[in-house]
Formats: sequence, structure tokens, C-alpha cells
Amino acid sequence: MGKRINYRKIAFGAYGPLCAHCGFGIPSVLEVAHIDCNRENNDPKNLIVLCPNCHKMHDLDLISTETILQMRDRPKIVKWSKRMKDAGKKAALTRKHSAAGRKAAATRKRNRDSNANESFLPIEVHG
Ligand SMILES: [Zn+2]
Repeated sequence: MGKRINYRKIAFGAYGPLCAHCGFGIPSVLEVAHIDCNRENNDPKNLIVLCPNCHKMHDLDLISTETILQMRDRPKIVKWSKRMKDAGKKAALTRKHSAAGRKAAATRKRNRDSNANESFLPIEVHG
């Protein structure tokens, strides 16, 4: 038995924890594929970081090996952290809007309730 080599560590070290094809970047979800299908060949050139989706598509030949190798070796254009920052900003804006909406709704409800109270007839007292 060959000794167990942490090829995930090798691939993440060489290419970063990003799917070579789509840029997905959660390390615990990412997979590492052996391009020649030989699990003993842990040369970084034989390894590629892929998300489960792209890995499956590659296995089914929906993504060619040439394509993922080109994408692996091309400088990364997508700045994932920047995209996430923008997404966070947008989400915060949405939260702000909905918070304002809830406040307005609460005010309307309060006004409606107080108007309703004013229109109440005096309570009948049974003696
Ligand atoms: Zn992917």
C-alpha cells in the first residue's frame, strides 16, 4: 500500500481553494480530481480543484479536460471576496428597506388601532 498523501492540501496549496471551472470557493465542499484518474499521481499538474457540480460534469464529459486545465492555469479573474462583499452590501440594503417597511406598517397599524379606539362607544355598564 502506498502511503496516504494529502492531495487536497497539495492542490489547494497550488491553486487555492477555488473551483477551477466556476470559482466556487468553500473549501469543505470542494473536491480534488486526478486528471489522469491515477490516485497515486499527486503531482500538482495532475490535480485540479473542482466543486462537486463541475467535478460531476467533468466526469460526464460535459466539461472537457482541456477546458478545465486551461481554466486552472489561467490567472483568476473573479475576485470572490469582492463579490461576496458586494452581495453583503446588497443584502444589508434589502434588510434596511424591509425594516423600514415593517416600521411603516407598524405605524399604520398603531394609527388604525388608536383611531378605532377613539370611535369606540362608551362601555355599557350593567348594574
Ligand atoms: Zn465549479
